[in-house]
Amino acid sequence: MGKITGFIEIERVTPSLRPVAERITDWDSLYQPFARERIQEQAARCMDCGIPFCHNGCTLGNLIPQWNDWVYKGEWALAVETLHRTNNFPEFTGHVCPALCEASCVVGINREAVSIRQIERTIVEEGFARGLIVPRPAKVLSGKRVAVIGSGPAGMAAAQQLTRAGHSVTLFEKARKAGGLLRYGIPNFKLEKQIIDRRLQQMIEEGLTIRTGVNVGVDFSVEQLRQEYAAILLTGGSEQPRDLPIPGRELRGIHYAMDFLGQQNRRLGGEDLANEVAIVATNRHVVVIGGGDTGADCVGTSVRQGAKSVTQIELLPKPPKDRSPETPWPLWPIQLRTSTSHMEGCTQEWSILTKGFEGEEGQVKRLHCVRLNWPEPEDGGRPGMVEIPGSEFVLSAELVLLAMGFVAPVKGGLLEGLGVALDARGNVQVDGGYATSVEGVFAAGDMATGQSLVLKAIHGGRQAAKAIDGWLRGGASVLP
Ligand SMILES: Cc1cc2nc3c(=O)[nH]c(=O)nc-3n(C[C@H](O)[C@H](O)[C@H](O)COP(=O)(O)OP(=O)(O)OC[C@H]3O[C@@H](n4cnc5c(N)ncnc54)[C@H](O)[C@@H]3O)c2cc1C
Repeated sequence: MGKITGFIEIERVTPSLRPVAERITDWDSLYQPFARERIQEQAARCMDCGIPFCHNGCTLGNLIPQWNDWVYKGEWALAVETLHRTNNFPEFTGHVCPALCEASCVVGINREAVSIRQIERTIVEEGFARGLIVPRPAKVLSGKRVAVIGSGPAGMAAAQQLTRAGHSVTLFEKARKAGGLLRYGIPNFKLEKQIIDRRLQQMIEEGLTIRTGVNVGVDFSVEQLRQEYAAILLTGGSEQPRDLPIPGRELRGIHYAMDFLGQQNRRLGGEDLANEVAIVATNRHVVVIGGGDTGADCVGTSVRQGAKSVTQIELLPKPPKDRSPETPWPLWPIQLRTSTSHMEGCTQEWSILTKGFEGEEGQVKRLHCVRLNWPEPEDGGRPGMVEIPGSEFVLSAELVLLAMGFVAPVKGGLLEGLGVALDARGNVQVDGGYATSVEGVFAAGDMATGQSLVLKAIHGGRQAAKAIDGWLRGGASVLP
């Protein structure tokens, strides 16, 4: 695959980031353009490794060495076709996937991994530019109606697969526009929204019906849903955020990350915010609680809004700088990750416990914290946290963003109305065939797995579509 000696001769190169001073003044993509010829050279680094561990790293099972070879040879139509065999939306993963495949790339054992994500992104952009990505409507219609509820990557993938299999699919979304967290969670600088619109247009031209602004189970009854649709797929995400019930939580200026990020994305999308309280970081000392990716997105958004300072704190200890010995190749490495947002101006602190918020006239002003130790227990169990005496400190906090993850799907309305069983973590319980406890009702994406990643949601959507297609046909599915 690729050029047999490519990985020895060619160094890994990825697109350069725009300078910080420039990119924090707008919401556009973080990266500079990257010439197509250079990508062909990068694809040449894919070695003939025999057992491509990247297949295993990628949940979607992307045929990475195969499309790298097509790119190296300039066979763009074949590259586009091979890429779409396992992934409906490589432009989404090409922008936001953490690239589990690169962590398990064989070249990465003792050199820098092949730049798989960038190659994926270039293939799909070439595909659109060359008119190779066109609607693929079904040739024969089944006459069966399917409702997909929730238009994130899981719902979108399932809806496209089921429409192509010949079913009449309605994709319901309670928000004003389709896309789920791709649209309203992930900031524009990581994923520009015309990328979602372009794909939705293809899906509409294939015959998909999209109904936005409909909260199923509230605006559209469960009885009507069951009457009108032969099969139902739940892809409503994991929307209940984790709270921080410490003293002072009731003060103004403390918000869930998604309320802040969603509002900024709606603002940029030209949506009407007249009836909403503005949540803005402008001229404020911002504290982001939670050290993950959602927290990093809050950092980048706060910086662009003109925050006075941004501090991100995390309860857990600082991860090691390099791959931890507990996660050797080809596993996804536990290690420190400095995101593009962190490079834009932010203080990061680890092993911090929040003790209470303090305010003035009902508005949050300060956050009281203490530093932690995480000693290894003698019995070899999990380390427990211990407060360091005398290490208490106070942070200026005029806007606090809670980014500590999501607990489970929201239960009221749809899930209660359908009466689907939940698992121990409160997610919708499914069997190996994505079926819930209620006949004809299936679930996928974060709603079934808990908070996860875009590529896993796409994979779940595709697999659930296959299960539904087989169930509707009463036999084998025509879907991959
Ligand atoms: C801020 C943030 C940043 C992230 N960044 C990344 C990243 O960079 N890379 C990555 O791989 N992953 C990222 N993730 C995770 C990723 O976005 C999710 O795992 C993925 O979007 C889940 O897809 P989904 O389709 O299951 O659900 P979602 O994307 O959550 O979509 C669910 C949709 O269902 C709708 N819905 C719910 N109930 C109803 C109802 N009753 N009626 C109608 N509609 C309904 C919701 O409005 C929503 O639009 C991020 C998550 C967040 C919160």
